[in-house]
Amino acid sequence: MASNVDSSDLKQEEETAEGHYARFSFSVHHFPTIPSWQFKTVYHTPCKSLPTSWEIFFKSEKGPSNSCFVSLSRVDYIANPVDAYTWVSFFDIHNRRLAFPKVLSKRGILPHGKVQVCIKEMIPRVEMGILAQLELIVEVSLSISSCHEKIAPSVASLNSHLNKMKLSKL
Ligand SMILES: [Zn+2]
Repeated sequence: MASNVDSSDLKQEEETAEGHYARFSFSVHHFPTIPSWQFKTVYHTPCKSLPTSWEIFFKSEKGPSNSCFVSLSRVDYIANPVDAYTWVSFFDIHNRRLAFPKVLSKRGILPHGKVQVCIKEMIPRVEMGILAQLELIVEVSLSISSCHEKIAPSVASLNSHLNKMKLSKL
């Protein structure tokens, strides 16, 4: 099962004005003839204001199958909500997109919050025969936002308060 799935690869990581973006990909060999496969990774945003941690989990349905279960769970303990937007794309080994990206998104996710979806048809039937002996590349893009905005004003007011205290001591 696990031997048919390469471990995840963090392909890209960026800090944006609103938050953080990360992109992962992993390969499923001999899809869809293998009986089952799963994939899990944890990502920690390198945020200076509100660092959060996320578990991305994939599991194929039992038996040779074209459907899978995907979940995104927040696994840190800082009680401030953030927004998450995730999209899952499927490619063949030649980097050809096989289906429209599937989206999972939720605003105001707190620790232990999660968003999940069951994808009934990952790959259109017409593409399945082509993939039988090849590999399926699953790419997961994760965008976390509202972490900078939520904390920035209070940090800014704390800094200005500290500056005032320093000035008052002069
Ligand atoms: Zn941030």
